[in-house]
Amino acid sequence: MRMLEVSDLGHTYQGKDGAHTAIDGLGFSVEAGELVCVVGPSGCGKSTLLRTIAGLVRPTSGRVMLHGTPVDGVPSDLAVVFQDYSRSLFPWMSVTRNVEFPLRKLSRRKRAARAAEALSAVGLGKAGRKYPWQLSGGMQQRVAIARALAYRPALLLMDEPFASVDAQTRFELEDLLLRVRREQDTTILLVTHDIDESVYLGDRVLVLSKSPATVVADLDVPLGPVRDQIGTRASGEFVDLRARVAGMLQGNTPVGAR
Ligand code: ADP
Repeated sequence: MRMLEVSDLGHTYQGKDGAHTAIDGLGFSVEAGELVCVVGPSGCGKSTLLRTIAGLVRPTSGRVMLHGTPVDGVPSDLAVVFQDYSRSLFPWMSVTRNVEFPLRKLSRRKRAARAAEALSAVGLGKAGRKYPWQLSGGMQQRVAIARALAYRPALLLMDEPFASVDAQTRFELEDLLLRVRREQDTTILLVTHDIDESVYLGDRVLVLSKSPATVVADLDVPLGPVRDQIGTRASGEFVDLRARVAGMLQGNTPVGAR
């Protein structure tokens, strides 16, 4: 099933200094169960794209369809994980309460069960009573991921989710995402400016041009579902693909044009 379909999407911001087109004629689709990474230079319009898909920004042209329904406002079966974990958790709520927060419509028992399962999936099974400020940055981002997973969204959007943690934690969180995604069959669209991360995580990588962003290439990543930080990153396929993406980002050269 086609989970997400973005067609001819464009967005122009109207500011004091005039109009600025952030994305233009952007189109792609994501199948159920896929993990698709969007990579592009800083400022090219990645967050604008994500916010448009999340219904937080109304596009000035084009259309976003989420499992066959046009997105008009924030869809209820979608979750977003942002880069800034320190602002996405409620500091006065325990970890468990934070994860349960979007599940208010469920019974108390179901909420508790979902939160416990999601926290255990991210390796925080024993941290439920703690408060976010008692945890490291990497652990706080795990809580934000657990909250999104507990909600069981049809589509999980992630906006530079690992950009604010140190390199070692970043690797751990990338592997955590690959594992829970295999276990729970979640459909994920992840935005990053990090070429290596896009190839390491993605089943597909969408390469965006400089602003106004459009899709320069849609690449399959033939690395299989199980990856590891040392072996995969050293493999010939990984090295080739990251060089191709880097070349495209530098020259914005479409696939097959060289
Ligand atoms: P990225 O996520 O790739 O860094 P953004 O989507 O945040 O890019 O921004 C794309 C372009 O749109 C940038 O030039 C940015 O300055 C501009 N932009 C983003 N948000 C706004 C806004 N609310 N008003 C005006 N311009 C904006």
